[in-house]
Amino acid sequence: MDARAALEKLKQGNARFIANVRGAEPVLSQVRRADFVHGQNPFAVILGCSDSRVPAELVFDQGFGDLFVIRVAGNIVAPSQVGSVEFAAARFGTRLAVVLGHTHCGAVAATLDELRQPSPGQSPNMRYIVSCIRHAVEPLMSEPGARDPETLMTEAVRANIRLSADHLRHGSEVLEGLVKRDGLLIVGAEYRLETGEVDFFDAD
Ligand SMILES: [Zn+2]
Repeated sequence: MDARAALEKLKQGNARFIANVRGAEPVLSQVRRADFVHGQNPFAVILGCSDSRVPAELVFDQGFGDLFVIRVAGNIVAPSQVGSVEFAAARFGTRLAVVLGHTHCGAVAATLDELRQPSPGQSPNMRYIVSCIRHAVEPLMSEPGARDPETLMTEAVRANIRLSADHLRHGSEVLEGLVKRDGLLIVGAEYRLETGEVDFFDAD
């Protein structure tokens, strides 16, 4: 499935999710899960936040075998995430990768808190996540909108999604080559906890 068709499929799935209906295919895939024992053909990679309120298969109304999902707090991009996207693209020919952030992201809020008031006792592992998100949100702190915490949070979430999508687009020769020559599309999207809607606002 090419990237545009995959993107359309995700949009249709999200529309069903918002309308509280389930497609027949995702439900049937649960019954037919034994069919996937010997292989899979996921049509999209989702690099999403670990947040319990944003389960990728549910918000896109997809079933077994549909999505190759990578979840990490703050939807950050580190070598293991890049490698996972490379793996899906190379092994299964998946041609769409979506960075899925969300409103009210705790990891982004924690990064803003850390920038306002550094906490020296933070574990190095959590500090690593904050250090990734920091690159996206720090430049916003000096902008006029930063005076309003709500505006800053809204912009910080989107900046962090854009940074991760750009990191995937330019952080690996393999992915860069796939984008240039093989139709791989990397897009950034935001899930709104308030409405259930996914806004694909960073579609190259
Ligand atoms: Zn989050």
